[in-house]
Amino acid sequence: MLILGIESSCDETGVALVETGAGAVPRLLGHALHSQIDMHRAYGGVVPELASRDHIRRVLPLTEAVLRQAGTTLQALDWIAYTRGPGLAGALLVGAGVACAMAAALGRPTLGVHHLEGHLLSPFLSADPPAFPFVALLVSGGHTQLMRVDGVGRYELLGETIDDAAGEAFDKSAKLLGLGYPGGPALSRLAQQGDAQAFALPRPLLHSGDLDFSFAGLKTAVLTQVRKLGDALEARKADLAAATQAAIVEVLVRKSMTALQRTGLRRLVVAGGVGANALLRQQLDAACARAGVRVHYPELHLCTDNGAMIALAAGMRLQAGLVPLAAADRRVGGSYAFDVRPRWPLAELSA
Ligand code: ATP
Ligand code: MG
Ligand code: FE
Repeated sequence: MLILGIESSCDETGVALVETGAGAVPRLLGHALHSQIDMHRAYGGVVPELASRDHIRRVLPLTEAVLRQAGTTLQALDWIAYTRGPGLAGALLVGAGVACAMAAALGRPTLGVHHLEGHLLSPFLSADPPAFPFVALLVSGGHTQLMRVDGVGRYELLGETIDDAAGEAFDKSAKLLGLGYPGGPALSRLAQQGDAQAFALPRPLLHSGDLDFSFAGLKTAVLTQVRKLGDALEARKADLAAATQAAIVEVLVRKSMTALQRTGLRRLVVAGGVGANALLRQQLDAACARAGVRVHYPELHLCTDNGAMIALAAGMRLQAGLVPLAAADRRVGGSYAFDVRPRWPLAELSA
């Protein structure tokens, strides 16, 4: 089965083609991505209206590029999947609208995918795919969650952030350090030259006894240091970046290990943009090796938003028999009406 996936929930337009077969591992046949980061940088963050307009400009050329890469045509597609939520309403509407228009023209069914399910399943496209069940650490720009995952669509929330997400903590701290937007990758690059011990930053909720996270206090602590340093900041910037990264990573690692202990599961899956962080990978690798736990990551280029994870999640839902037949009936003249869900907790997504 050939599935086209379209991602447009925020500031990346992603299109990809995934092939699934009975009992076979899903294969990525092509993928293309346009990041709007350069466009939004001038504003220090994502401007929703600009994001929607840019998705409109990019989505069809990216689709053509993906079909060319895979050496195939629109007519060969079996399903068209798009991100239904969560995300920016206008941006989501572009992907959903284009997907449904394309599907209607081709007489193919569509499937609206949960963006976080996409992130969560993305390691299945890696060279070392996981197997169910596992604990998932989902660390992205908008979410920080630990989940017990027993199969496609079988997600139990174990804990989550009560304020900022881990990616947000990276981005906001980076902004305070004058590293621009989005600051996560820049902060971790600078941290390589710094001494993480040079500043004592808080590890919020480290000993809370539950699996929740809190990063807002860390950002305030970074702000306090920045103000205290004043003109001396420039010379101490790398140290402060290293200390910030170390604080975020330590909490993520400790809570992941606690989640593994409590569930008794022997497998950890990391997903979302912060999953690209080298220190996080290094420390999780070490902690999991000590605990005898297997750990799986998405390929580096599939950690942040992309169309591949959307096509993959659709493919895995189809393979698992979770897509109602009514969805497929659209190809014989049913409705292509669509909606998006800007707010959509993963726990509400049923198998
Ligand atoms: P969500 O998926 O929750 O809706 P999102 O789609 O914006 O949010 P992602 O695209 O998964 O999030 O990830 C983007 C985030 O990942 C940003 O906050 C970015 O700073 C962070 N990030 C990316 N690479 C790294 C890195 N190497 N180290 C730390 N953070 C990183
Ligand atoms: Mg993004
Ligand atoms: Fe995302």
